[in-house]
Amino acid sequence: MGSLLSYFKNIIFGFWNLLVGLSVTTKYFLSMKTNTQQYPEEKLPLPVRSRSMIKLIYDGEKDQFNCVACMMCAKACPNSCIKLEGVRGADGKRRVTTFKLDFSTCIFCGYCVEACGFDALTFVAEEYENSVYKRGSLLQDEQAMKWVRPAHLAPKPEEEVKAEAASTAKAGV
Ligand code: SF4
Ligand code: SF4
Repeated sequence: MGSLLSYFKNIIFGFWNLLVGLSVTTKYFLSMKTNTQQYPEEKLPLPVRSRSMIKLIYDGEKDQFNCVACMMCAKACPNSCIKLEGVRGADGKRRVTTFKLDFSTCIFCGYCVEACGFDALTFVAEEYENSVYKRGSLLQDEQAMKWVRPAHLAPKPEEEVKAEAASTAKAGV
């Protein structure tokens, strides 16, 4: 008797689950609301901090890369993806001459970006279409990695950053 009862209970439970599933399907079907993105015609904006592509920041006003060829990024890279060279200019400052990053072995750990103390490397969220047909195309040089920061992403002035830090410290946060 007990097994007969559980047999019918299972049938009713299964039927109930079927109804719940169908109600969800019907709800979304009738609402005609779709969450499907028609990629590549439609592109989702990624969060600003997405690790999409690494770029070498170019200062358009000074007409030069911010990189001073200090080698810190190359030393920080666990996969030795970065190779670069630099020279000392007439002003006594070092400037990068060649910068190569092999994205075929890069694991996007971000160590290079963190190691750079000269605001010369950054992840750029919107550049995520990085597929290529040939592995060799993933070896990029300074021209391929060149990126001019748009005005709306400009870093805050140092005084503003200091003032914010001071007010945070004062508030005891
Ligand atoms: S993200 Fe990581 S693996 Fe890629 S170049 Fe930078 S340090 Fe190397
Ligand atoms: S750490 Fe920054 S400044 Fe130094 S070599 Fe790398 S990109 Fe250039």
